[in-house]
Amino acid sequence: MGTVDRRYVRHMLTGAQYKATLDDGRLTYFEGEQVTDLPGHPLLGGPVQEVADGYDWLLTQSSDGVSPISGVPTSADELRDKVELVHHAGMMAHVTYTSIMTLATVAGRITETAPQYIDRIHGFISDAQVRDVRITQCITDAKGDRSRPPSRQDDPDAYVRVVDRTPEGVVIRGAKLHITAASLGHELLTIPTKSMKAGEEEYSIAAMVPVNAPGVKIVNTTYAPRHADTRDFPVSGRSSIPEGFVIFDDVFVPNERIFLDGETSIAAVFAHALGLWERLGGLTAMADGADTLVGLAQLVAEANGLAGVAHIKEKISEMIIHASVVRACYEAAIAHSQAGEFGAVFPDELYTNAGKYTGAANYHLMVRHLHDIAGGAVVTAPSMSDLEHDDVGPLLRKYMSTRSDVDGEYRTRLFHAIRDLTADAYGGWTQVTNVQAGGGLYAQRIVTRRHYDLDRAKQLALAAAGLDAGQVDG
Ligand SMILES: Cc1cc2nc3c(=O)[nH]c(=O)nc-3n(C[C@H](O)[C@H](O)[C@H](O)COP(=O)(O)OP(=O)(O)OC[C@H]3O[C@@H](n4cnc5c(N)ncnc54)[C@H](O)[C@@H]3O)c2cc1C
Repeated sequence: MGTVDRRYVRHMLTGAQYKATLDDGRLTYFEGEQVTDLPGHPLLGGPVQEVADGYDWLLTQSSDGVSPISGVPTSADELRDKVELVHHAGMMAHVTYTSIMTLATVAGRITETAPQYIDRIHGFISDAQVRDVRITQCITDAKGDRSRPPSRQDDPDAYVRVVDRTPEGVVIRGAKLHITAASLGHELLTIPTKSMKAGEEEYSIAAMVPVNAPGVKIVNTTYAPRHADTRDFPVSGRSSIPEGFVIFDDVFVPNERIFLDGETSIAAVFAHALGLWERLGGLTAMADGADTLVGLAQLVAEANGLAGVAHIKEKISEMIIHASVVRACYEAAIAHSQAGEFGAVFPDELYTNAGKYTGAANYHLMVRHLHDIAGGAVVTAPSMSDLEHDDVGPLLRKYMSTRSDVDGEYRTRLFHAIRDLTADAYGGWTQVTNVQAGGGLYAQRIVTRRHYDLDRAKQLALAAAGLDAGQVDG
């Protein structure tokens, strides 16, 4: 499985071809208006170009005309190569790859419980590879009152559900929130957000829905900078992927695109599988992100003349330890990857979840140290256009310089990077996203606990206490 039948392989899409595919009748909105030209939109056009660039870059990485983000890794080394390639190819490649890996993981986990869906799942994976489409992940429902299950909500549509069925398929209604890049992809992997109980059959639905299916409506939000001069936003000005509020307003889904329909006992298999891949992606980004924060802390300390001062070095050491622990978890997650049914390899659950949790939970400490070290210019450094002003520009450069070998513009640009990454619209988005994306800290604690060898820990504790296992009960 996972390999493409070459007879059906067509050329990978170029960036320009990808952009043309977006003109497919999809209904997508931004700040009160329907967007009819995504590539030409002032804020969403940049992300479209970013995805297009990802397509063009992947063309340069393929030797056989097959997208290198397709195909399921079958060894730890292949997994590592794939994760790094996908990370480099951008967010859209990442969500597509994790969607395919989620489906591959699910297929391996339902061989006993729901084998009737396996051929459909593998069929879709091959088809998606042949069409070189991008897939986004629709898990998080509106959820209504969080203390009540789907079947006891005041509004029965608080979780996506089947509202009608015909011999050819089902009609779904509901909404999926915060969906990364939803408007920019071609397919919506739509799956239950949680486990379901008997009586919640209509909510136990998993399906692949085209973005342009009649009844799909997507409302976008973005942290993309709204300033004409994006030089003051060196990170988010280059890369900003919108989130989509995806509404299924009675959408027909044909049988061949349904991967779960009423089997409550396995409703959570999809979210569990996706959670693993999503958190591995989060962990990869956090490992690089933590190193970037360390680098900025060191550079700004050097520019400020404080790199040798004890309390600054201590803070940077603490940041380095955090960054190293996050990376160690990533390395362990890959090194301890396991092969499932059909040979697909998946990362270790314990290290993936513990690492993602550690990265997210300590992120605020990293940012605190960075702000503490850098100083107030994080939020007050003048803009690049101020630096170019005939009158005040030379003065600003003079006073932003700290000594003859530290250029004023160089130091100003460091501050812009720190503000953009940690203290402005994108910085705020990152703080929330670190905590919530991939299912929230609580979910990572649960999964970590489930996969931790608590019995072994108890045995070690008993041995340390000089007790034998018979003296306690579990
Ligand atoms: C930038 C961003 C991108 C995202 N991308 C995607 C995406 O591509 N696809 C996708 O499907 N989702 C995505 N998410 C959604 C993300 O997975 C959710 O935000 C997360 O699962 C939390 O759900 P929620 O926002 O509804 O918050 P809530 O569920 O309301 O959680 C808030 C708090 O309440 C607690 N809580 C909730 N219910 C209960 C309960 N019954 N009992 C006890 N405690 C409870 C939670 O543990 C948490 O502490 C994204 C989120 C962000 C911020």
